[in-house]
Amino acid sequence: APTAGGNIEMKRTVCTHCSVGCTVEAEVSNGVWIGQEPGYDSPFNLGAHCAKGASVREHAHGERRLKHPMKLEGGKWKRISWDEAVNEVGDRLMAIREKSGPDSVYWLGSAKHSNEQAYLFRKFAAMWGTNNVDHQARICHSTTVAGVANTWGYGAMTNSYNDIHNSKVIFLIGGNPAEAHPVSMQHVLRAKEKNKAHLIVADPRFTRTAARADEYLRFRPGTDVALIWGILWHVLENGWEDKDYIRRRVYGFDEIRKEVAKWTPDEVERVTGAPPEQLKRVAQMMASNKPGTLIWCMGGTQHSNGNNNTRAYCVLQLALGNMGVSGGGTNIFRGHDNVQGATDLGVLADTLPGYYGLAEGSWKHWARVWELDEEWLKSRFAEGMMNATGIPVSRWIDGVLEDKENLEQPNTVQGMVFWGHAPNSQTRLPEMKQAMEKLDTLVVIDPYPTVTAVLHDRTDGVYLLPAATQFETSGSVTASNRSLQWREKVVDPLFESKPDHTIMTLFARKFGFENELLKNIQVNGDEPLVEDITREFNKGMWTIGYTGQSPERLKDHMKHQHHFDKTTLRAVGGPLDGEYYGMPWPCWGTAEMRHPGSANLYDTSLPVAQGGMGFRARFGVEHEGVNLLAEDSYPEGSEIEDGYPEFTMAMLKKLGWDKDLTDEERQTIESIGGDSVNWKTDLSGGIQRVAIKHGCAPYGNAKARTVVWTFPDPVPLHREPLYTPRRDLVADYPTYEDKTFWRVPTLYKS
Ligand code: SF4
Repeated sequence: APTAGGNIEMKRTVCTHCSVGCTVEAEVSNGVWIGQEPGYDSPFNLGAHCAKGASVREHAHGERRLKHPMKLEGGKWKRISWDEAVNEVGDRLMAIREKSGPDSVYWLGSAKHSNEQAYLFRKFAAMWGTNNVDHQARICHSTTVAGVANTWGYGAMTNSYNDIHNSKVIFLIGGNPAEAHPVSMQHVLRAKEKNKAHLIVADPRFTRTAARADEYLRFRPGTDVALIWGILWHVLENGWEDKDYIRRRVYGFDEIRKEVAKWTPDEVERVTGAPPEQLKRVAQMMASNKPGTLIWCMGGTQHSNGNNNTRAYCVLQLALGNMGVSGGGTNIFRGHDNVQGATDLGVLADTLPGYYGLAEGSWKHWARVWELDEEWLKSRFAEGMMNATGIPVSRWIDGVLEDKENLEQPNTVQGMVFWGHAPNSQTRLPEMKQAMEKLDTLVVIDPYPTVTAVLHDRTDGVYLLPAATQFETSGSVTASNRSLQWREKVVDPLFESKPDHTIMTLFARKFGFENELLKNIQVNGDEPLVEDITREFNKGMWTIGYTGQSPERLKDHMKHQHHFDKTTLRAVGGPLDGEYYGMPWPCWGTAEMRHPGSANLYDTSLPVAQGGMGFRARFGVEHEGVNLLAEDSYPEGSEIEDGYPEFTMAMLKKLGWDKDLTDEERQTIESIGGDSVNWKTDLSGGIQRVAIKHGCAPYGNAKARTVVWTFPDPVPLHREPLYTPRRDLVADYPTYEDKTFWRVPTLYKS
């Protein structure tokens, strides 16, 4: 790590802006974070940051930080103390619990928690007595977890970002890493350069990633399964599948053959819009260049049939024999920096930490780790609810509005705690607003005053509590590739903010279960010792091997960026050929056993009979007829033309700004229509002129003079009034009053 002179200290932390996990060297002078550099020795960053990572300091020092607790009283925000906040919120939530039971309060957690906070949050909800707990992963990649786990066991990325260098072909679907995970794109480009890898990008839109593809495959949204089956049809028809691999390791492939046979080239073209000759070319490219990796992101998962999409991707990789090898695998780029960790640590309505379900045995296991009396734990829950799946985040609205038809476990929610979670990415905003207005108590705990605090027309019963960012505390974080890294605290919590685990302690104290929550965890004042929390989950996370990554090892790895060589990797059966960082789970055994972690989740170096990996190619039978494709969602014969470039140019002409466009800007618009382009972004992250948000909400563009906001479908049209923040309610909230909004009602021309 670089050293600094004078009174400048260097602190090592991890970027919070996506799941790649780039190392940040923060320069601190007299307790003030004054500058930052990328971690030059991380095999990950490759000595770089993307624009988001390069401005990560702004996240801590953002001018709109929530500075002190506030409550809404008579339609006005009023400053209150932490004591008042904890007492008032605590009394209100306890009154709800008393009257209607523990499931009447919903604890909505976050992919922005550190691992320690995520673990403590799930434990906290258990002690409150509810499984009404969830987080963002439900919306983004829960279909991945279900699809992948059902195919081969673990719901996670199988290889590593830097293993992409070893691929000969990269098939990328439903993702745009050039913009969303920019440093990972460096690894893709390195594979192209070093390995002459072929890049295939399948996406309904021509993105910046697609601009670097050898083969850009455009298809209709929601038709991923047909597209994959269309490729597989050519593979099987021409005998290009890896027959030996299938015979030795893949169960259930005959069912796949039957299913794929139905997807003839004509049928696939009718459904997807992709020409048969191109699919044949792609199939041949994938079959004749191995190993190949298949990468997807949320373009593949956020569908009602997302689970089927992810299963289909897995099956294609099995057919080609690409699983369990370096350069192969299914590599899932997740969203938030700790969405993998928060999922692993059980911030979910249907699991406990380590993917232990809610059955009696799982509770027994964790009660043992927590050294708690099982009967006491049971007594915290309403009758029969301890083993019942809670309400998923996508359904909390129904819980409040008592829409029993939409709920598997109907119960009435009267208190919502949005802890690091703004649900504005969900649809159904009118109902969301209605639900927020019906609640007895609405609590937002976040470093920033999120839109959740102002979506409704309430005048009372809303609390805003300032949380510290991950740069104002320490703890571990799990990147998409399952690597755990330790974040060193950069600065003390700013203003009156407090770290999440401290806020949990204050509420646990108020609710009377602080001793149970923190039984084996040292508490200094109000702050539990983060390292003790890591040690505690190390004792219980046997299912996925979060056991060998002690705080000491994690800190040491972060400091020295250990690279394991081939000999060490082979010694633990890891087939990855190359360096990696952190200790990706599974990291079996105890810390003393010094397992280096598993860079590749599956090992095919041994025959199945001797412990090598076997896979189950699942699809079809149990899913037949279940919303296989979102085919009904677009009109028959519709074109898949992208209207964005045309629209964007028209908008710029209207503004009179088309004349001073640079060549680069003009090219961007002509190729991708300015997709999520923040033009004129200066290096400090300040947006000078215009932000164009195609298909995503216009938050984060408060500084832009103009926000162009477009959607491809009619669903969000009724959202606009709700998206206008009520400036009167939050003094510090960004305003869009002086900005211009346009909407493109439909992408398709039928
Ligand atoms: Fe941060 Fe992701 Fe950019 Fe890396 S790629 S610097 S983790 S936003």
